[in-house]
Amino acid sequence: REFPIYNFSAGPAVLPESVLRTAQSEMFDYNGTGFSVMTMSHRSDVFASILYHAEQDLRQLMDIPSNYKVLFLQGGASAQFNQVVMNFADGFKRVDSVVTGNWSEIAHSQMGKLTDAQIHLAADGKRDYNYTNLPPVQNWDISKDSAFVHFIINETVHGLQYREVPKLEDGMPPLICDMSSEILSRKINVSDFGVIYAGAQKNIGPSGATIVIIREDLLDRCSDRIPDVWNYKSHIQRQGMYNTPATYPIYISGLVFRWLQSQGGVAQMETINTLKAKTLYAAIDGSGGFYKNHVHPGARSKMNVIFSTGNAELDELFAQESTTRGLQLLRGYKSLGGMRASIYNAMPLQGVEALIDFMKEFQKRYG
Ligand code: PMP
Repeated sequence: REFPIYNFSAGPAVLPESVLRTAQSEMFDYNGTGFSVMTMSHRSDVFASILYHAEQDLRQLMDIPSNYKVLFLQGGASAQFNQVVMNFADGFKRVDSVVTGNWSEIAHSQMGKLTDAQIHLAADGKRDYNYTNLPPVQNWDISKDSAFVHFIINETVHGLQYREVPKLEDGMPPLICDMSSEILSRKINVSDFGVIYAGAQKNIGPSGATIVIIREDLLDRCSDRIPDVWNYKSHIQRQGMYNTPATYPIYISGLVFRWLQSQGGVAQMETINTLKAKTLYAAIDGSGGFYKNHVHPGARSKMNVIFSTGNAELDELFAQESTTRGLQLLRGYKSLGGMRASIYNAMPLQGVEALIDFMKEFQKRYG
């Protein structure tokens, strides 16, 4: 190829090349078994070991305390919008829901189905900031009596991220966080949360596996009236094998965890991710207004960097021409337009530098 390929997809997203090479080499014969992980029984010892090590490595990377359970479920983050309500809102009158962008707006619209609890809009980032800034945690209108507080720490579409990880005061309800588009990208304190969940297909692996990390005491709330397949307690009582898990995505996720460990873990990722984001935002801000990003600097996502020329035709040309330079999938979310560069853990600094080189060249030609 004339240009190396850099994949800026928001998800399913770039994976480390070494992980894909390992998967390729093990495709037909995993570890001398003579067959593929894809064709193994999920109840086989070999797969049980894959699942066990994936969980242990995730625990090590995120420093997950022993009073938290880890599940690899199916259904994506979207299923979690409702599953957290089904499991934890029984007997409560209210759930607090923080809306900060496209995905939490969807979560908010769905959470009220299948519950009698009121889904209270605890903060409205659209009304207050038109999704260009984030409501600070001190301003969330939350109640001690709510079942839990739900929020999304990184809004993948609007390119917003809580730079300081929100934490609730003692005595407040459990904080439930969708970390889909930033999990493992920076150090966080798991014990600040009641539940953390994330679809794998951004910072971890292929789509199909959804990580759910649950503080043990919350499982007492899961009522027997919830069908087992939606009941966290049933999955935990059966060691994550209530039904067939997404075996291949879990296997690839496990390879990604090992890759992360080999790269120096989450702390090292955080350093690189900060540098990548800083470099890219500096290029946008330094373009003399040719490229624009309207997000408040203190709320700009280090994972999903949105920008636009302000001219839809020029943006489309950018998306097309960048593709011919190996810079793939930069087109912004369908309803927002513009460009979006998703620069997850597996995107090297060189990819961001190649994008900036192209941005400069494009501006010379059309600016
Ligand atoms: N939450 C966030 C923050 C997301 O970015 C996405 C997907 N882009 C979702 C939820 C929905 O995830 P899924 O498609 O896995 O249901």
